[in-house]
Amino acid sequence: MSLAAAGCALKSKSASVSSAEKKKGIQRIPTYCDICFWKCGAIASVRDGELWKIEGNPDDPLSRGRLCPRGTGGIGAHTDPDRLRTPLIRKRERGEELWQEVTWDEALGYVAEKLLKIKSQYGPEAVAVFSHGIGGNFLKHTFKAYGTPNISAPSFAQCRGPRDVGFRLTFGEDISSPERTDIRNADCLVLLGSHLGENMHNSQVQEFAEAIEKRASIIIVDPRYSVAASKAKYYLPINPGTDLALLLAWMNVIVRENLYDKEYVTKYGFGFEQFAAEILAFTPEWAYPETGIEPEIIRATAREMARYKPATLVHPGRHVTWYGDDTQRSRAIALINALLGSWGRKGGFYYPVSMDVPSYPYPPYPKPAKDKVDNPGNKYPFASETITTGTRDATISGQPYPIKGWFVYASNLLHALPNENETIKAIQNLDLLVVVDVIPSEIAGWADVVLPESVYLERHDDLNVEWFRDPFTALRQPVVESPHDQKPNWWIAKQLADRLGLGSFFPWNDIEEYFRHRLGAAGIDYEELKKRGIIRGAKQPNYFEEGVPTEFATPSGKIEFYSLQLQKAGFDPVPKYTRPDANPTGTFRLLYGRAPVHSFSRTHSNRILSDMMSENEVWVNTSIAARLGLQNAQYVTLKNQDGITSNKVKVKVTERIRPDCVYMVHGFGHTSKGLKHAYRKGASDAQLITRYKTDPLMGGTGMNCNFVTIEPAEA
Ligand code: SF4
Repeated sequence: MSLAAAGCALKSKSASVSSAEKKKGIQRIPTYCDICFWKCGAIASVRDGELWKIEGNPDDPLSRGRLCPRGTGGIGAHTDPDRLRTPLIRKRERGEELWQEVTWDEALGYVAEKLLKIKSQYGPEAVAVFSHGIGGNFLKHTFKAYGTPNISAPSFAQCRGPRDVGFRLTFGEDISSPERTDIRNADCLVLLGSHLGENMHNSQVQEFAEAIEKRASIIIVDPRYSVAASKAKYYLPINPGTDLALLLAWMNVIVRENLYDKEYVTKYGFGFEQFAAEILAFTPEWAYPETGIEPEIIRATAREMARYKPATLVHPGRHVTWYGDDTQRSRAIALINALLGSWGRKGGFYYPVSMDVPSYPYPPYPKPAKDKVDNPGNKYPFASETITTGTRDATISGQPYPIKGWFVYASNLLHALPNENETIKAIQNLDLLVVVDVIPSEIAGWADVVLPESVYLERHDDLNVEWFRDPFTALRQPVVESPHDQKPNWWIAKQLADRLGLGSFFPWNDIEEYFRHRLGAAGIDYEELKKRGIIRGAKQPNYFEEGVPTEFATPSGKIEFYSLQLQKAGFDPVPKYTRPDANPTGTFRLLYGRAPVHSFSRTHSNRILSDMMSENEVWVNTSIAARLGLQNAQYVTLKNQDGITSNKVKVKVTERIRPDCVYMVHGFGHTSKGLKHAYRKGASDAQLITRYKTDPLMGGTGMNCNFVTIEPAEA
């Protein structure tokens, strides 16, 4: 049996009724989306027992009744013929993708036996968990009860970590997710390398459209003329990797010309005088040769931002692991917002609120005997979450202690982490690799055991008690039955815990009992939540002007323009610019980003979404294409500085990118044989990202450090 199990058209059955009594007519069942992590409230319609369509839930503050294209295409996740169908145990060598179909009892028994053996030989800390999204909550609970502290997600060290650390160092708080950005009320919006609209975070894109409609002034900084750039008053085609120089020059103008919010800075700021003294060196003339942005444009855009303060939002971005100096660049973004007085203010950064739904009263977890493995000696002193790549390093080296098991939930680590050879090297040292997911993936191809999960339309997940503009609680509930032998994550977590002798950590019999307990403690009626999908709490203040207390959880209790904690740890208290590596002759810097119809590397076998975009393209500047003799839509391969050659990919010849870089959408170029529909369609940026620069503050991996050449390929 191969992972590429024979496909067939799947029929859906309404989960709210048994198939025998399949209802005629239309049922509308509220739930929330899982095609990405944004968790938009949705209403799924089942017609004559078959899944028919999915729309936004108008009561939901995240979707406001409208889903993004991926959410609408969620039906394709349920009907995907390439789905994992039954538990699998590896037959031969790791990576060969040859499997034995087994029962859940056999699979979970096998996993539990191996986990207990690792625990007795090396201790529970020798198992690392990688998990992305709310679906991992119950599995993480099982592993906390098992006793490991090594639980991480690529969303920190490979995505938003530098931003959260940079803002925390400045304001004492993370940006968190969904971002606390008040885009809809901004009069001036600045995006650095963020391509909202292509990067489809539903609420943010809706707010971006509102900002455009009300004619907010938009400033876009990007080596690529993105869709967002087409809406801008100012488009700055910056030299890649020099954003920090631009930010310093902007702050120089705002300070020199006294354009900052003096009252705000005086009242809430710490160390402004030292900051101002340092920033005076970074003039627009100094920044010009670095950034390629003319001094007068730097001045004009700085004045434009100041003109609309405090309703000017310099967006912190999301995927910000670019060059290895990412925390300091993010801190510079925090500082320019502080100068403009936008933190805590309308049109800047609002204060998120949430409903008070108590956690389930589980027994206390055992205290791990060892510290986390990812950051020995506190090498990255400002890492506020576990570092995936630190865990990978420890798995390779066995230091500070051996890691012998990986349990991976919904994270295709071979596409998410840089340098796939290092990931494969780490896997070779494991006694057990378990992958839980809904579809095959490159990481599942290396697993010893693959456990097929029901897709979100077929399962319950944990309650979504989100921090957002307004407090709410949302329910994910099954709309249709799983078509094969897939199971929900909560069931897998509970069953595994039972086999590990940890049944006392799951005192509830089924998840509805768990919901009833938690919701009852919060005074929320579960039956009502089932009917509506979402219960909203009372409006609360979001801004300082509405009464949010002006408190900052920094050492000084103020907004830290000058950071003594950074200075004490041996880092620059005010960010300093480092010039990025120059392109080796004849090469192009590899940049990557998102498309509005796909999420990570998780949606390419979804037939509805792949119908809209089945492969990616590599963007090449017109002048370069002419020099290399490349035609639009011609196939090429990319070769990186370490000799890695990509799968073939179509060229998009365009003026919309600088000549010194190329760009592609992330997540394509699958090599998992189980992904029959997506197999080898487009090229994988992850495969070409062999080099990365580690952020010395928090261990994030800057991944825009690779250079490629372009060769024609057979069609
Ligand atoms: S942004 Fe789109 S894919 Fe993500 S949860 Fe919302 S509707 Fe679903």
